[in-house]
Amino acid sequence: MSDESTTAGRDFIRDIVAEDLASGREKGVVTRFPPEPNGYLHLGHAKSICLNFGIAEEFGGRCHLRFDDTNPTKEEQEYIDAIERDVRWLGYDWGKHLHFASDYFEQLYAWAQHLIREGKAYVDDQSQEEIRVTRGTLTEPGQNSPFRERSVEENLDLFARMRAGEFPNGARVLRAKIDMTSGNINLRDPVLYRILHAHHPRTGDTWKIYPSYDFAHGQSDALEHITHSICTLEFADHRPLYDWCIDNLPVPSRPHQYEFARLNVTYTLLSKRVLTELVRGGHVAGWDDPRMPTLAGLQRRGIPAEALREFVKRIGVAKANSTVDLGMFDFVVREVLNRTAPRRMAVLNPLKVVIENYPEGQSETLDAVNHPDDPAQGSRQIPFSRELYIERDDFMENPPKKFFRMAPGREVRLRYGYFITCRDVIKNAAGEVVELRCTYDPATRGGNAPDGRKVKATIHWVSAAEAVPAEVRLYNVLFNTPQPEAANFAEQINPQSLEVVTGMLEPALASDNFAGAVQFERQGYFVRDKDSAPGKLVFNRTVGLRDSYAKVAGDA
Ligand code: ATP
Ligand code: MG
Repeated sequence: MSDESTTAGRDFIRDIVAEDLASGREKGVVTRFPPEPNGYLHLGHAKSICLNFGIAEEFGGRCHLRFDDTNPTKEEQEYIDAIERDVRWLGYDWGKHLHFASDYFEQLYAWAQHLIREGKAYVDDQSQEEIRVTRGTLTEPGQNSPFRERSVEENLDLFARMRAGEFPNGARVLRAKIDMTSGNINLRDPVLYRILHAHHPRTGDTWKIYPSYDFAHGQSDALEHITHSICTLEFADHRPLYDWCIDNLPVPSRPHQYEFARLNVTYTLLSKRVLTELVRGGHVAGWDDPRMPTLAGLQRRGIPAEALREFVKRIGVAKANSTVDLGMFDFVVREVLNRTAPRRMAVLNPLKVVIENYPEGQSETLDAVNHPDDPAQGSRQIPFSRELYIERDDFMENPPKKFFRMAPGREVRLRYGYFITCRDVIKNAAGEVVELRCTYDPATRGGNAPDGRKVKATIHWVSAAEAVPAEVRLYNVLFNTPQPEAANFAEQINPQSLEVVTGMLEPALASDNFAGAVQFERQGYFVRDKDSAPGKLVFNRTVGLRDSYAKVAGDA
């Protein structure tokens, strides 16, 4: 869709893998998904997961889950657990290949010593600020550090003492000795190790120095015999450094890095920093708040994993960044749910209806199919009686021309039920409509009139006595602009991102135990929330039957 090279599930990365296998350059394919455990996974990560695990599956290889846990100040066990859960939920399995960059700390340290011995790395005593200033700019070359020509012995000694914890944070770093005049800033003596007195979720207090992403990543790939190291475009400029490390170290294999465009979606910010601030700042109820684009949030909102995989398949894999319309995501979600979700009736903004010619105290049940296109889902019985609720929006006292639903004197069909005619409108002292008095035609049971007369509308309803009240959470887009800016995200939060109503549900919904979303007929897809408790039902809206966010932004 976003790239011409994406046809029939093929893309430029799959083409490369296929060629490498065909030419014999690689004997098999090994990929990895390498999250940093500093937050929950989001929709963008789903693209990377589906790509890495998908390629491994399609080409008979394997995909590792490797935590890139090199920054202990931001990483937590909670995130490790959540990431594992979410990758599984998405439908992928790493088998025995659960790895951590921290498993390789000892080896990485030995390789750093190797570089020192080869005269390709040195300990720099300059401050972070001095290093930044002397790195130069895109147009100006950098300047050599005054510590660049230290002897191998001195470097080895200082590096060992860094490891031993003799120096405070920031006192020294280990840098690769490459080229301070390189056109690629990443090659201007990049930092390989920094001092960090911090507790690590896995290695505890063993280490006082931690490798940089650039030093850990490629070497971890090589240790795991990764063949295709797939990452997002912002790492393209790091590839020469990735290759430099691989070329200059006695690594056991030679992985190659390939870059693809990261996923951006309208009305959404896919940045862990922003998502973390949304949680910490209390803008949302947590990482799994259904308004969050996290996999945990999407799951809680009732999005099926299948819809995520299908969405990723359709957007394809491109080499140029672009933004996908949120409408496309919702479209795929609706498509999957329309096919699978059982149907139920629920009234979200109830208006009472009294059927005057239906005997008081009497009731009956009507047969309702669970899915119009899937007879295997069977049917259920729904109660019908003298007092009902219908949707307030399905009535208008003075209907305009195109409004065919309930109005004074008008006859409509109740879904799965009878024709009813509105005879009278009852209002409260404030002039608001509080009740409709109607009559029903007993001959229309099942929804058709024997005399062949037609009605123009069918509306949903519930029987008042048996209806179950529920808290229904109606979610809207979290940001009120199609291209929210990460810098001032808080100002762009949609004040109507969550609306809570008390709905009246058909009784089956109180006892149903569906794992996923159901369709509330004519409204959208809804899923039971984990906040439900005995006697308290809570439902989340997964997605409406049609787009609503265009209205939110006022650009409809
Ligand atoms: P963020 O930008 O949200 O902070 P990150 O890149 O720091 O994310 P990592 O945990 O390092 O998060 O990401 C793991 C993998 O997921 C990386 O290979 C990264 O390139 C990929 N990834 C992250 N965001 C996206 C995205 N929006 N689209 C596609 N892939 C992504
Ligand atoms: Mg990252």
